[in-house]
Amino acid sequence: MTFPELHHNHSKCTADLLSRAEHTCERRGSRLTAQRRDVLGCVARSHSAVGAYDIIERMAEQGTRPAPITVYRALEFLLAHGLVHKIESRNAFVACSHAHEGQPAAMLICEACGTVAELDAPEIFAGLKSAAGARGFAEQRTMIEVTGLCSACAEAS
Ligand SMILES: [Zn+2]
Ligand SMILES: [Zn+2]
Ligand SMILES: [Zn+2]
Repeated sequence: MTFPELHHNHSKCTADLLSRAEHTCERRGSRLTAQRRDVLGCVARSHSAVGAYDIIERMAEQGTRPAPITVYRALEFLLAHGLVHKIESRNAFVACSHAHEGQPAAMLICEACGTVAELDAPEIFAGLKSAAGARGFAEQRTMIEVTGLCSACAEAS
């Protein structure tokens, strides 16, 4: 798990993400259009989750205000390619911090600074799946969102 340091070189995170996005799309034969790239860039501006309307505002600041439907479509594309994740409890989006190829990750959400970090915990997801399966439930998708304080905020409080 990588909880981003408070003061880190975020332009590196963004650059890594954009190059990963280019590669992912190329490999899958889909196109990272300028619009999709712009939406991804706006989501990736910080490690906090951002709602669709804030994304539209961020894009409007950069130039023209996009139609909501184009932003929603771009988000759907980015979600399908694992480049952003939806934080269901906040109806907001966060850029994926690392390549995990369709494997689910638990989301750790800091209540104080809003930072979201991803926790790879395959054994937890597998455990839930088999526990549900043992009760005759066919699991399709499990989302785990954990709220709390990141270590920087816990120290500051
Ligand atoms: Zn960063
Ligand atoms: Zn991710
Ligand atoms: Zn925090």
